[in-house]
Amino acid sequence: MDLINPNFLKEARFYEKIDNKFSRCLTCERKCKIAKGKTGYCQTRINNGGIIYTIVYGLIPALSFNPIEKKPLFHFHPGTTAVTVGTYGCNFSCFWCQNYHLSHPGEVLIDLVRKSKDYLSPEKIIELAIKNDCQGTSISFNEPTLLFEYSLDVFKLAKKEGLYNTYVTNGYMTEEILKELVKSGLDAMNIDIKGDSFMVK
Ligand code: SF4
Repeated sequence: MDLINPNFLKEARFYEKIDNKFSRCLTCERKCKIAKGKTGYCQTRINNGGIIYTIVYGLIPALSFNPIEKKPLFHFHPGTTAVTVGTYGCNFSCFWCQNYHLSHPGEVLIDLVRKSKDYLSPEKIIELAIKNDCQGTSISFNEPTLLFEYSLDVFKLAKKEGLYNTYVTNGYMTEEILKELVKSGLDAMNIDIKGDSFMVK
């Protein structure tokens, strides 16, 4: 984890030690078994001495102020605006991803993280939301589950300011993660169903 901005590092909320060599990330249903010094499938979680860390806490290369209908969420605070943020990486590999440059940025993620300077604290996101007349937050662009620990902190602060919180997600988080998100103030999710015409049917 050398040379990573310490702001980007946070111990994962859900993981288990398997033995002296491996730990298991319990953030999404992939439940990656990660060897010491290695990262999981999404590359946003690393095993450092048996402890799993996220390496993208507050690493926000994408930020915009969007109508809630763009998520798209309908009949949910219509006509309002949500400050929308995302990071790098994904736990899926969809070739049609509209944000492929973020979900699969084309280089080893930890190397990209080492070079990144895009830290935005949860407090700063809420400050930006209020300054830009937003009524809510949205974690989106890439898979928001990978910003799980960050989402919890953003959502709690948002609730104190009377803002709503949303996710645009593939829905592949574990049940424990989902419960924590709801407890911390997640109000709505848009779950994209990935697949071919058979899956859509
Ligand atoms: S969040 Fe990443 S490291 Fe953790 S289980 Fe999912 S794909 Fe694996």
